[in-house]
Amino acid sequence: MFEYAPAPESRSVVDIAASYGLFINGAFEAAASGGAFKTVNPASEEVLAEVAEAGTEDVDRAVAAARRAFGPWSELPGAERAKYLFRIARIIQERSRELAVLESLDNGKPIKESRDVDLPLVAAYFFYYAGWADKLKYAGFGPEPRPLGVAAQVIPWNFPLLMLAWKIAPALAAGNTVVLKPAETTPLSALFFADICRQAELPPGVVNIITGAGETGRTLVEHPDVNKVAFTGSTEVGRQIARSVAGTGKRLTLELGGKAANIVFADAPIDQAVEGIVNGIFFNQGHVCCAGSRLLVQESAYDEVLSSLKRRMATLRVGDPLDKNTDVGAINSAAQLSRIRDLSEVGSSEGAERWSPPCELPAQGFWFAPTIFTGVTQAHRIAREEIFGPVLSVLTFRTPDEAIEKANNTPYGLSAGVWTEKGSLILAMADKLRAGVVWANTFNKFDPTSPFGGYKESGYGREGGRHGLEAYLA
Ligand code: NAD
Repeated sequence: MFEYAPAPESRSVVDIAASYGLFINGAFEAAASGGAFKTVNPASEEVLAEVAEAGTEDVDRAVAAARRAFGPWSELPGAERAKYLFRIARIIQERSRELAVLESLDNGKPIKESRDVDLPLVAAYFFYYAGWADKLKYAGFGPEPRPLGVAAQVIPWNFPLLMLAWKIAPALAAGNTVVLKPAETTPLSALFFADICRQAELPPGVVNIITGAGETGRTLVEHPDVNKVAFTGSTEVGRQIARSVAGTGKRLTLELGGKAANIVFADAPIDQAVEGIVNGIFFNQGHVCCAGSRLLVQESAYDEVLSSLKRRMATLRVGDPLDKNTDVGAINSAAQLSRIRDLSEVGSSEGAERWSPPCELPAQGFWFAPTIFTGVTQAHRIAREEIFGPVLSVLTFRTPDEAIEKANNTPYGLSAGVWTEKGSLILAMADKLRAGVVWANTFNKFDPTSPFGGYKESGYGREGGRHGLEAYLA
């Protein structure tokens, strides 16, 4: 591999304040308790900012602001709501360079992903749902669909701004108001978005952003004056939320974990499939709920696929997220790094064979080399549990039926991939795979018009597309 010269994106394009308050009723304010926590750059462990920690009183204020704003917002003609959403989408486009740098700093993802994947999709979701705001009557949910009220939305750290867009855009288009809590390790882009709401002159209280950890999230989803809860995160927390919401009359959607099978048949274009395998598990450091973390390779193509995959992995550049040549950035937090390390140790101790390309990791920050495990069986924990990192478990199969059986042998059901040149096989597989999304000869492709969501322990409800409106309408 030839060397690339460093190509760092400028960090100075974005201003980060030393501290941030809670965005309630259109203004930033300190937490009632005065509590705060720090958010760090996972690539360097440098503190980026101090962020307010919302307690019960703050959650009350945010929900009350959303409740007051709900009447006037929901009564606006859809075309008027659309104008605000179009305005937000355009400002996101205008400020996308700042946002991409901020996202990479706070999350650790490579700038080429935040710049070329996250930000264009964030704007696209706002544009898409802006287009629905005046057409709700024709969305197929009855002649006069009504908004639900105040939506409590809790999101994870892997796609901070994209998850915000998936939550806020459909909620607002449908006439709801929101209180959103970003994850504690990645609050900054949501706070930047709060400023975009001000810039767009969105009426105060329509969007409220409160920061904090799990306890803040719990207080928010359990608030009695919330009508709808939308959660993306781990299956464990999803279960707790489902229990707490049961019987309250609140509507609930859960987007949880996954352990997707990426299935490669021997007749697949192997080079293309290898690109898809790499994209499936190393995109965003594998911090992807729909990551193709279980590779199922047809036995007759195993040697060819594995040698191509290893050759390709040796060209992945791991390092500074702000360098435009970087393919794999930093692991988002020390806690996540230790989970990835622990499960990888389990993989070795259960007898799977571990391999990583030679790869020098920075001394400071949270890093994990792209890793594959071969000789994995279905009973191994690394074949069953979500690792949420750049770790691929490789299994084999002989027949399509065996591939289906292995792919579906998981408590999850979020996504799957099929690689073959036979269209009929793709359709037959897609029909039998118990996964919300099945990609054929591609992987990790997202589009605002396409619904996304899971089966079984991957959650319920759909986000995106016309289906995504249903979760916010009565
Ligand atoms: P997490 O469940 O620990 O945290 C997610 C969010 O919930 C955070 O904002 C956190 O502060 C909050 N939270 C924690 N405890 C809470 C509680 N008791 N009540 C309310 N909120 C609470 O998950 P994570 O580690 O941040 O994210 C990784 C997980 O998210 C993975 O399992 C991944 O698969 C999943 N995920 C799913 C999707 C999807 O669309 N299905 C997308 C991204 C991530």
